[in-house]
Amino acid sequence: MERTLSHRIKARKAQSSPPPPVETDDAVLSSFLSDAAHVPGGFAAGVAFPRSEAEAASLVAQATRVLPIGAQSSLTGGATPRGDVVLSTRALSNISSPGGDSVRVGAGVPLKELQRALAAVGLYYPPVPTFDGAFVGGTISTNAAGAATFKHGSTRRWINAATIVLANGDVLDVVRGETRASDDRPFEIELTTGAVLQVPVPTYVMPDVPKLSAGYYAASGMDLIDLFIGSEGTLGVVVEATLKVIARPKRIAALIRCADDKQAVAVTSALRLEAQSAWRGLGPLDVAAVEYMDTRALRAVSDDAFSRAGVTRPAGQSVMLLLQIEITGDEESALGRLQSVLTSAGVEDDPHLALAGDDRGAERLFNLREAVPSSVNAIVAAAKQAHPDVEKTAGDMVVPFDRLSESIELYRSTLERHRLDYAIWGHVSDGNLHPNVVPQNFDDVRRGREAILEIARAVVAMGGAPLAEHGVGRSALKQQLLLELYGAEGIEQMRAVKRALDPEWKLAPGVLFAP
Ligand SMILES: Cc1cc2nc3c(=O)[nH]c(=O)nc-3n(C[C@H](O)[C@H](O)[C@H](O)COP(=O)(O)OP(=O)(O)OC[C@H]3O[C@@H](n4cnc5c(N)ncnc54)[C@H](O)[C@@H]3O)c2cc1C
Repeated sequence: MERTLSHRIKARKAQSSPPPPVETDDAVLSSFLSDAAHVPGGFAAGVAFPRSEAEAASLVAQATRVLPIGAQSSLTGGATPRGDVVLSTRALSNISSPGGDSVRVGAGVPLKELQRALAAVGLYYPPVPTFDGAFVGGTISTNAAGAATFKHGSTRRWINAATIVLANGDVLDVVRGETRASDDRPFEIELTTGAVLQVPVPTYVMPDVPKLSAGYYAASGMDLIDLFIGSEGTLGVVVEATLKVIARPKRIAALIRCADDKQAVAVTSALRLEAQSAWRGLGPLDVAAVEYMDTRALRAVSDDAFSRAGVTRPAGQSVMLLLQIEITGDEESALGRLQSVLTSAGVEDDPHLALAGDDRGAERLFNLREAVPSSVNAIVAAAKQAHPDVEKTAGDMVVPFDRLSESIELYRSTLERHRLDYAIWGHVSDGNLHPNVVPQNFDDVRRGREAILEIARAVVAMGGAPLAEHGVGRSALKQQLLLELYGAEGIEQMRAVKRALDPEWKLAPGVLFAP
């Protein structure tokens, strides 16, 4: 009996409520027409700010097309409206008193606020993307990952439960472990009308990589909650979630100059091994993250940003690595071990360190890392002034770690063959890098797209994925990459899931694939 029921779940009605007002005033709307991808031409039927599950459900039930949004930090145009009613989650901002190993939060809580509330009671939520202004609901919907995914995994691993408003306004309380696919039968969702939605379980094979934000999750025996995580607003609106949390770790940040890519890859490989030993209790060097900034990325950063970090601009072909080291035992032993790894790899300079407790020092180093994307984005914005068609053109590639050197070579040779200026940075401990085109005009953007597509095909052939953490959104290029990854049959399986849960194609239409 239990087995028969395991793939079935019952939706419930939200409390009865009128929908929240839908603002159509241009002065209010204008700040919701774009996301961090800065794709032009966003337009919306209105924007609403539901303050409760009941208001969100009522809005969704009555609307004909809805785009749920968080902080609009999407890099894919996924949070740029195209005529939808924008459902801003920002008023769903409740944080229940955190304690133990979980916390219940509203979808509209920015991660920065969440970390502040958790820090006050010595807790921490690990899977934070580099941009900590992102909202909890947005990060669940994109299965966001970040620097420390290497140790802690992506958002998916940290979601115990989610409350989701379905396309008809019914509410689903999905708790991990309670609703699982069985014998490849579809999930069954019983609506409050008595109708039963048959939601097929996709059968395409996901690449074996540490992070992936590439459409719907698929695995035999999968948990229903995993279908919603990473679905980019297309299957339901997340209104609340229960997140796993841990005791706040003490952390060292270390910035290291490497002579070149070869040395940086060698250091990262050695640090990964040290970390894996530490996780088995066999060493002191518990590295949670290694971030990489290549020569060209560092060149884009201003002298001011270097001096604010108290770091000298590196010369020649140097690249930089920024480490997060968690201290579980003795800080001195971890630092001693770090020094021997660096010496063995031939690293000449001493690292810049921010020791545990030196939050200001750590922030200075993290700000330097953050200056990389913001400096490159500023160059793109400047080019856009002269050529309005110019837009951010970047890859979000992940490869199995043993293909890392080869992948860096691939990014450089492809971009150079296409005669493009570029910069590369990212979460190197996961094999996840962001080759970014630095365009001067639209022709660079056009050739950049060709280069990214070519790189993506080679990355897929290496067993990697071209959609590691930012998602697919409404970007034509990223939708093409999704097709490259799973083929037409895979996309058709995703569309079947969408049709089952949202037959009127009401939620985030045009995200992931065309309606
Ligand atoms: C400087 C910078 C650095 C970044 N670094 C990283 C990084 O390290 N790792 C990473 O993964 N990403 C990164 N990103 C991308 C971005 O921060 C993430 O994709 C983030 O998860 C988006 O959250 P958001 O709240 O801004 O969501 P939005 O951008 O508002 O929305 C993103 C998508 O989720 C859907 N959505 C939002 N809220 C809900 C909800 N409650 N229910 C259902 N669907 C919803 C939207 O419809 C949209 O499709 C970065 C972005 C910037 C600007």
